[in-house]
Amino acid sequence: MGNEIFKNGRILRKRRNADLEKNGMLRHDVDLYMLNTLKIKAKAKDFFTIGSEADLLSLYNLCKRENFNKQGKKIFALGEGSNTVFAGREVDALIVKINLKGRYLVNHDNEYVWVDVAAGELFRDFVLWTCENGFSGLENLAAIYGTVGAAPVQNIGAYGCEVRDCIDSVRYFDLNDGQFYTVSAEECKFAYRYSVFKYQDGSKIITNVIFKLKKNFVFNDSYEALAKSFANVKKTDITPLLVAKKVTEIRNGKLPDPRKFGNCGSFFKNPVISKEHYNNLKAIYDDMVAFEDGDNMKISAAWLIERCGFKGKKINNVGMYPKQALILVNYGVENIGYIISYAEEIIKTVKLKFDIDLVPEPHYVY
Ligand SMILES: Cc1cc2nc3c(=O)[nH]c(=O)nc-3n(C[C@H](O)[C@H](O)[C@H](O)COP(=O)(O)OP(=O)(O)OC[C@H]3O[C@@H](n4cnc5c(N)ncnc54)[C@H](O)[C@@H]3O)c2cc1C
Repeated sequence: MGNEIFKNGRILRKRRNADLEKNGMLRHDVDLYMLNTLKIKAKAKDFFTIGSEADLLSLYNLCKRENFNKQGKKIFALGEGSNTVFAGREVDALIVKINLKGRYLVNHDNEYVWVDVAAGELFRDFVLWTCENGFSGLENLAAIYGTVGAAPVQNIGAYGCEVRDCIDSVRYFDLNDGQFYTVSAEECKFAYRYSVFKYQDGSKIITNVIFKLKKNFVFNDSYEALAKSFANVKKTDITPLLVAKKVTEIRNGKLPDPRKFGNCGSFFKNPVISKEHYNNLKAIYDDMVAFEDGDNMKISAAWLIERCGFKGKKINNVGMYPKQALILVNYGVENIGYIISYAEEIIKTVKLKFDIDLVPEPHYVY
């Protein structure tokens, strides 16, 4: 899970650290408990770790040899497992753990630097490194769990910023033909919690993300709470590192730490509905929280969940976090079925009450 856990964690150290470092090998019955922040107890029937580009070629040959395509075997690239739900005790999909490391300054001009970062690097470590070096653009995304390779998959975002704002291009390996490709940010078709990588079949494994960062700091104060927290600070005293520290402080104050309470961040996406539908609801619920989204309205999923009575409500050791209604917490569930049925209960209730479809944000893997 987090960097700290890999370094200090008990289970990995005692039992599996050495095992997980054996890159480029197919292994079976691998315990996934420490590899997902929701703390689901599951095993991968088949597990492969990628530590180098050569390992990707071995994986390609293995998939061909075993005829995985024809068998319909799913492939699932795994980063830190902070946006993943292992939806069964035994996961059928081939889990491909991405351990690619490294970051390189590849170019710069008067305004920008370009940094090429390997997919297995932790995103939060990279963000801190950019801030410490005075590069600007990612500071509002400080302290987000997960790897660099997963960041473009759902175009992660927070505090008025999305990662697409700083992505120049993405490099991936295609298991269909064993070739590497580079796609521009435009070709990634980024949107709210979406990119072309989001619902792909697992054959495209992101190996590097090339970021374009500003040399001169521009404070993105579009998020009200963040702007307010700097109200008494002189504009010239604000730095990327200061912003990253403030964002981390705010996040730590309201989000559950997955090392204590298993969770994978927001469990549902904010749904988008037509203005007509919104106006009808607004006439009944005048405190409804919503934002303009082109011709439509984006509704706060947290508000919907709270209005349906799920905030802080615990059933079978699963519940929505009392301080943040969007976060589903695993308080010690043995059976993944309880998590899935709790989430389904929310979807059903929101649909009945508001005629709105909630869609889970994390990826379910079977
Ligand atoms: C406490 C907490 C707070 C969070 N806050 C936020 C937030 O503010 N904003 C936000 O957007 N998200 C947030 N998240 C969700 C999560 O951190 C991000 O979605 C993150 O990018 C997931 O990274 P990961 O490496 O853990 O991905 P995983 O869970 O391992 O994988 C997620 C998806 O990406 C795919 N994937 C992973 N690596 C690759 C690769 N190399 N190539 C191709 N596909 C790949 C997987 O197959 C899967 O589909 C939060 C999570 C937690 C636990």
